[in-house]
Amino acid sequence: MINKILATGAPPFGPHLLSVSGLSPEVLTGILDTAESFLEVGHQTVKKVPVLRGKTLVNLFYESSTRTRSSFEIAAKRLSADVINVSPTQSSVTKGESLLDTVRTIEALGADGLVIRHPSSGAPAFVADRLRCHVINGGDGCHQHPTQALLDLFTIRKRMGRIEGLKVAIVGDILHSRVARSNIMTLARMGAHVRLVAPPTLIPPGIRTWPVEVYHRLDEGIRGCDVVMALRLQLERAAGGYIPSVSEYARLYGINADVLDRLAPGALVLHPGPVNRGVEISGEEGFADRSAILSQVEFGVSVRMAVLYLLMGGGSEEAFPDKGGKE
Ligand code: ASP
Repeated sequence: MINKILATGAPPFGPHLLSVSGLSPEVLTGILDTAESFLEVGHQTVKKVPVLRGKTLVNLFYESSTRTRSSFEIAAKRLSADVINVSPTQSSVTKGESLLDTVRTIEALGADGLVIRHPSSGAPAFVADRLRCHVINGGDGCHQHPTQALLDLFTIRKRMGRIEGLKVAIVGDILHSRVARSNIMTLARMGAHVRLVAPPTLIPPGIRTWPVEVYHRLDEGIRGCDVVMALRLQLERAAGGYIPSVSEYARLYGINADVLDRLAPGALVLHPGPVNRGVEISGEEGFADRSAILSQVEFGVSVRMAVLYLLMGGGSEEAFPDKGGKE
């Protein structure tokens, strides 16, 4: 098993994963192939391999998280690493400790890797420049969410058998979505045709330079698509101020069994979670066979195992001393 993983031959992309912007199709494919080998570990009686034994990973999340934080924790534990979760609300951050002092303290405690989520875009890159340990972006502001995009790629490849040539519609609050920004880069790089579907107010300025087609009407935007990725309306980032009302948004952009008729046969519905039920998605039980939402969660563990292994399992610093994978 371990030999199979070690033999995947994925090109190294470390020492940090701050953005997907520097990841070539070869590196993306290598990460997905490595994740494929790790899937098996989750089905063993003893769900563990010793590839990161003796390493310590710290999760430092300045924003709430259910999936990403627990997924990194489970992934690291399956690789036999030790994992510590530092919660800013129960740490010296509440006494006014700065971000830099906090991460330097964590590194001094012996962390080999740090997963950081922060409301400010660029916070993971800021700390990566000042630390020696591996830094992984667990989501920064509206900027990037690299492991979400990787697990979305993995889910699409696994469920549809390919990525190249697929039509993928990303629907909803593109303006505030780090998930959309990362996914647009990875999907386009892997040869998918990306459409954005949203009211004009939720489309970021400067969109013309992105490799996407923009639609404002849901029925037109998703027609013939193989994958529809619904995004959460980010009310905590004031998305409510960009639409007349949540109920009108749900009526015009909500995904339900009726609108799915416009998709290609066998099309998939993705959502990074958490879902606002009745807003972005309603009546999922009516199209459960097409929903990949729990597959995304399940596959996320293997994808994060692959990322941790490729970054922290050795070899990446030698290959990329200039911190590849960073913007
Ligand atoms: N969980 C994803 C993120 O952290 C998506 C969301 O919160 O809407 O960006």
